[in-house]
This record gives sequence, C-alpha cells and structure tokens, in this order.
Amino acid sequence: MGRVALVTGGTRGIGEAICVALQGAGYRVVANYGGNDAAAQEFSARTGVPAYKFDVSDFDAVAAGITQIEREVGAVEVLVNNAGITRDSTMHKMSYQQWEQVIHTNLTSCFNTCRAVIDGMRERGFGRIVNIGSINGQAGQYGQVNYAAAKSGIHGFTKALAQEGAAKGITVNAIAPGYVDTDMVRAVPPQVLEKIIARIPVGRLGKPEDIARTVLFLVADEAGFITGSTVSVNGGQHMY
Ligand code: NDP
Repeated sequence: MGRVALVTGGTRGIGEAICVALQGAGYRVVANYGGNDAAAQEFSARTGVPAYKFDVSDFDAVAAGITQIEREVGAVEVLVNNAGITRDSTMHKMSYQQWEQVIHTNLTSCFNTCRAVIDGMRERGFGRIVNIGSINGQAGQYGQVNYAAAKSGIHGFTKALAQEGAAKGITVNAIAPGYVDTDMVRAVPPQVLEKIIARIPVGRLGKPEDIARTVLFLVADEAGFITGSTVSVNGGQHMY
C-alpha cells in the first residue's frame, strides 16, 4: 500500500491538484479543509479522497484531526502544508485581526501540523514535509505585510526543521509558487491581474498542476538528498 499523504487545504485550488497528483502516483491521500463543506463534499465524491474538516490555525483541533486521520487511515508519512488565506490591506489600514488570521492560518499552521506528525516520523525514520510558501514571501508585496511575513516565515521554518529532520530520514522543503490560477488569485481585481501577468516571462498564470508536479518530485522516496530547499515555481517572475 502507498504511503499516507495529508494535504492541508486539499479540497480546492492548488491543494486539490496536489491531492489528485499524489493519488495518481499511488499515495493514500487525505485532504483537510477549513469551512467550505460543499466544496469538500464535491471534491471527495469526485476523487474518492476523504476530507477532514479542522482549522489548521488551531493547535488542539489539528492534534485531534491528525489523531483521527492516523486512526482511520494510517500514520502520516507525507505532509503538505498548503492551507492558506489572504487578508490584504496596507499597513496603515490593517487590523490586528487581519494580521493574526493570516499569520496563524499560513504559518502557525505549519507548527501545528508538524508538531502532530514529527514524533511518528522520527520513530519510523522517514518523513516528507513540503510547505507551500509564496513568491510574495520572497519578494514582498504591496498590501500584504501579513501574508509576506507569514510566507517568509515558512521559508525559515523549512530550513530549521530540515536541519532537525535530516538525520532521521525526514526531508523538509518549501515551494514558492508565483501567481497560480485559483480562487485566491481570481479575487485580485482584473486590471491588477493583467499587470501581474504582463510581468511573468512565461506569459501566463501558473496552473495548480505546475505546483503539484513539484510536490510529487519532492516527496518521492528517492528525493532523500533534497532538504531545506525552496523551489520557485513562478514562470520566471522572480529569480531568487
Ligand atoms: P484557495 O483559496 O483556492 O484554497 C485554499 C484551501 O485552504 C481551501 O481548501 C481552504 O479550505 C483551505 N483553508 C483555508 N483556511 C483554512 C483553515 N483555517 N484550516 C483548514 N483549511 C483552510 O487557495 P490556493 O489554492 O490559491 O492556495 C493554496 C496555497 O498556495 C496557499 O498557502 C497560498 O497562500 C499558496 N499560494 C497561492 C498562490 C496563488 O497564486 N494561488 C501563489 C502563491 C502561494 P475551505 O475550502 O474550507 O475554505
């Protein structure tokens, strides 16, 4: 049987493509989501991938959710921290709540999930963790102090945990997507999006599948020598 892979925010957008790619490669995939039950039900019915609802920003909810997954499906050997949100605003208008929500959902979530799986991965001597960062964590972005800080934090988190996991067969890598055609990017005003696409040398938005294939590469058993890396998948928009 294939390894158990948990993808947070796996029911829509990039996470959905990651689930489908992992499933196609023989992993036993489990998706998590936060609140959109209709999308999760539709996703599970279509793909056969079970979806577990818990808020990744809530430490206790994550611990309970992962305990349930491990009981019902099996020990999590592959973890993809993909769930994320934006709450954009310039600094002078940003509320503490907008800051806090984005930091906790995008960054604290990685602590919450990794803390729940790390002991098992260490005991078994194998683990693959991929954290989804962002081009805007590398380059910054107007109106995204909260999001850029959280995503930049993910890149540091990845390098530190990679050092801890290396001797235990656990690799930890990050992917920094550029602009990818999902609901998150569809929320950007069309005139702004047009300007963004004009700055992408490849000449198009990314597809969720562009990110999914990178995840597959990083989580392979054969990828044990790749750890602490951030792979940019951005159509050449930012060469870091
Ligand atoms: P979407 O908005 O399309 O999907 C987000 C997913 O995350 C949904 O499944 C959602 O669940 C889930 N989610 C959100 N909040 C929580 C929560 N608190 N607990 C559990 N699950 C939650 O996002 P994308 O697919 O566009 O983005 C995926 C990741 O890629 C994010 O981390 C994002 O920051 C990153 N990224 C995206 C880029 C892009 O251009 N799209 C560019 C760079 C990075 P539900 O359906 O229940 O809301």
